[in-house]
Amino acid sequence: GATVEKYEYQAEVSRLMDLIVNSLYSNKEVFLRELISNASDALDKLRFLSVTNQDLIKEAVDLDIRIQTDKDNGIITITDTGIGMTRQELVDCLGTIAQSGTAKFLKALKDSKDAGADSNLIGQFGVGFYSAFLVSDKVAVATKSPKSDKQYVWEGEANASTYTIREETDPEKMLPRGTSITLYLKRDDKGFAHPERVQKLVKNYSQFVSFPIYTWQEKGFTKEVEVDEDPVEAKEDGQEEQTEKKKKTKKVVEKYWDWELTNETQPIWLRNPKEVTTEEYNEFYRSTFGEYLDPLASSHFTTEIYLVCSTNCTSRKDDIVNFKTKNIRLYVKRIFISDDFDGELFPRYLSFIKGVVDSNDLPLNVSREILQESRIVRIMKKRLVKKAFDMILGISMSENRDDYEKFWENFGKHLKLGCIEDRDNHKRIAPLLRFFSSQSEGEMISLDEYVENMKTDQKDIFYIASDSVESAKNTPFLEKLLEKDLEVLILVDPIDEVAIQNLKSYKDKNFVDISKEGLDLGVENEEKAEEKQEFGKTCDWIKKRLGDKVASVQVSNRLSSSPCVLLTGKFGWSANMERLMKAQQG
Ligand code: ADP
Ligand code: MG
Repeated sequence: GATVEKYEYQAEVSRLMDLIVNSLYSNKEVFLRELISNASDALDKLRFLSVTNQDLIKEAVDLDIRIQTDKDNGIITITDTGIGMTRQELVDCLGTIAQSGTAKFLKALKDSKDAGADSNLIGQFGVGFYSAFLVSDKVAVATKSPKSDKQYVWEGEANASTYTIREETDPEKMLPRGTSITLYLKRDDKGFAHPERVQKLVKNYSQFVSFPIYTWQEKGFTKEVEVDEDPVEAKEDGQEEQTEKKKKTKKVVEKYWDWELTNETQPIWLRNPKEVTTEEYNEFYRSTFGEYLDPLASSHFTTEIYLVCSTNCTSRKDDIVNFKTKNIRLYVKRIFISDDFDGELFPRYLSFIKGVVDSNDLPLNVSREILQESRIVRIMKKRLVKKAFDMILGISMSENRDDYEKFWENFGKHLKLGCIEDRDNHKRIAPLLRFFSSQSEGEMISLDEYVENMKTDQKDIFYIASDSVESAKNTPFLEKLLEKDLEVLILVDPIDEVAIQNLKSYKDKNFVDISKEGLDLGVENEEKAEEKQEFGKTCDWIKKRLGDKVASVQVSNRLSSSPCVLLTGKFGWSANMERLMKAQQG
């Protein structure tokens, strides 16, 4: 017979399997979602590669996923006709932790432990192939890659530190192409092998997988059969009468088993937006992007492009510069092409928005270079950006102020980064910004709200950067402005000041730092001139005493009760910037 080779898992894998089994105990059913999503990935890969290499699909079988159940023996088999795996790929993919969902899971587990988070959350993360062992004593993976023409079988058992790989020799068990995963369920989990249970899980978790998923279901149809009527009883007198056989029909249910299409195969973005419910969008979002929270808003337009905006906090602070977020999935004529972009299709600072783009105008074998140079891509990007900003604006105008507060808390930094990176969209970004102000009690305001509240003779938008609202409110810089009832924006986020300086103005009103020299409050000029003369000599004297420690000494128009204040020159670093620079130099 064929040789069976025994391998040891990479050390982390056995540890991981342990963790998975223990942490996900209450959420075992995720195994099916994981295996289906692997099958779908394998089909995507095949379809994509076959565009340039027709040989890969020389076996004329449909691209689909079939789930067969044997409830008496507690066995589930998930079969796809995707790209399959070679022997080496089996070792690499199933014997080690790829840079995959499983690795992400380990990290999430560690993070949530560090944060003391609810371990329930973990159940929502992608855990990959090994989740099969949540419910199985034994797993067998038969797989055939179009690259090798040989079929291999990987077998592993729960709680074992080794697995085996052998070549399949039984002609009856040959797959045309792809992978077939057989789960031998644990005694207590055999219930998963009920066809209705599988059907429900598919509808729940994998409704929007873009390949057909068939489940093996028992069906029945009623048919009318002719039955003989009860034989007529013999007559009492013993005379045998010739019974006239009357025909009668009866309804019976004929049972049989067949494949049943279980998911929605038409992509959601091809449906009429009016006919898609919010719940369907949410579900699509969750299953497409492996998210566990619903999006805050979504947008679906021209029946080609679907965009959603995420609320969850996967983009942590330090993630803001890690732009490889796979947030835009590009399809060409319904075929998934790639989700690995670097700003070609969508600005990186908007990485918190997730979306699907389906184009009929790009070639199927679209490459990085094409993406970078294509006029179509540039137009697409423009439209995507416009729609994205419309969507955010929509949230900001929501009656429920909480929505935008939550949004701003999570993604405000991204938009401020946009002020720095994306000059072309300043007009769209600026109305979305929020800042604290000297006149709002703890609530943040928009620039529109500021402008509305400006005094009739006020020309500029005043701001001060500080480490907190409290300390800003106590600086002498603010005295005169408070007295004159002029509102001042208080910038407490380190990036705020740079963002504002990039914007320069809003609705033709310049941003003016009140901690800098040359503040024009439009006040009584005559009075000031008099004062200047009167105190000119005093100023000269003070400047002489301080020497190089200050650049100049002037009569101030911004104080009311404090005797003096230290200012930054018009072109110098603000005190806040200096503080930040110092902090960075460590
Ligand atoms: P991920 O899917 O996040 O990469 P998994 O643990 O789910 O992580 O799967 C590990 C790898 O095993 C996949 O990346 C893929 O290369 C391979 N694999 C799993 N299932 C299949 C399948 N049905 N067909 C082909 N390859 C598969
Ligand atoms: Mg996976």
